[in-house]
Amino acid sequence: MKKVILLRYGEIHLKGRNRGYFENLLLNNIKSKLKNIKCNILRIAGRYLITDFEDCDLIIKKLQSIFGLVSLSIAYEIETNEDLINKTVLSIFQDLEEKINLEQKTFKINVTRADKTFPFHSDTFSASVGAIVLNAFPQLKVKLKNPDIDLLIEIRENKKTYIYFDKVNCCGGMPVGCSGEGLLLLSGGIDSPVAGYMMAKRGLKINAIHFHSFPYTSLQAKEKVLTLANKLSNYNGKMKVFMVPFTKIQESIHANCDDSFMITIMRRIMLRIAEKICNTNNYKAIVTGESLGQVASQTIESITVTNNVLKVVPLLRPLIGMDKSEITKIAKNIDTFETSILPYEDCCTVFLPKNPVIKPTIERAEKEESFLNINDLIEEAIEKTEIIEIDCN
Ligand code: ATP
Ligand code: MG
Repeated sequence: MKKVILLRYGEIHLKGRNRGYFENLLLNNIKSKLKNIKCNILRIAGRYLITDFEDCDLIIKKLQSIFGLVSLSIAYEIETNEDLINKTVLSIFQDLEEKINLEQKTFKINVTRADKTFPFHSDTFSASVGAIVLNAFPQLKVKLKNPDIDLLIEIRENKKTYIYFDKVNCCGGMPVGCSGEGLLLLSGGIDSPVAGYMMAKRGLKINAIHFHSFPYTSLQAKEKVLTLANKLSNYNGKMKVFMVPFTKIQESIHANCDDSFMITIMRRIMLRIAEKICNTNNYKAIVTGESLGQVASQTIESITVTNNVLKVVPLLRPLIGMDKSEITKIAKNIDTFETSILPYEDCCTVFLPKNPVIKPTIERAEKEESFLNINDLIEEAIEKTEIIEIDCN
């Protein structure tokens, strides 16, 4: 019997006439994720199939980080034929009997019939296969709710039938890239990698921008950000990381502006640079890890004043309503937490004011900025930006 991995996808079903586009995009994402692994990847109506593979565990691990996939099953594939299905089910139960004691075990046969030319209704056929199993294994009992053994039989339109026990959950969401590309402000902290993960999950392909204050911050701080980007790339695929030198800008703010506005003005300049990079690369949104009220720079007033510099590109804040504990839980799940808590300094801790303004105003921020050569500073930072390509696969 041929073993295959059957892949299910979710929300794409809702996309009406665009469905083909979503299905092709997801197929390409699967292909690029498995590009270095021996296997064959096919699309059938309503499902994808992985066949001719060797390392099943490795493939499953990789598939579980592809957004758009809802669940998968390791299934036996056979030709759709009543006798063959019955025989196969019996041989699966025989195999099972060699592994576990079937005495008093409960079971259920669950047929789904996508191929409406198959001559039996799902329920009728479930009952008939169930009766055959019961006849051969009288120690079993039928139980329709929460049975010990749940065998699923999918009769698909390609004239093939897939038989399997379990569904393994995948991560859901939308295929990365279906919402275009965006630019994540990636610091070395806990929040921003989670924000990137959440937007990639909704189909926005993430690229990252990091502002570093070398030599005030170490080279290890930069390495840490690249490690985080690499971990995000596991979900997001290939991405660019823009490393922007921020030291001169910070020195200039420190020398010319009121101390309490340091962070506010830094944030406004970060967003101006991010928007310019979006415009030259056709990225459609900026993403940050801000969460309302978390720190002085994330009050409604601070958010208003930083947001104000953006002209067209929207700023998405997927963590805005989340508690740190909820964010931390996701960071642990996606394996960024341990890297995020490494103790290297971020640029925001350089020249950190004692009393950052909590309720800044746009007028005051603009006045402080008038003491800077802001356009030249921004141009120079963009010119000296280093671009690093990341692909963890
Ligand atoms: P994080 O845990 O992601 O560092 P945080 O709680 O430390 O977030 P802030 O330092 O106020 O929060 O930063 C808010 C957001 O601004 C970050 O989530 C990130 O998106 C962006 N940001 C902060 N510092 C940088 C940086 N050096 N480079 C790029 N983006 C940054
Ligand atoms: Mg931070």
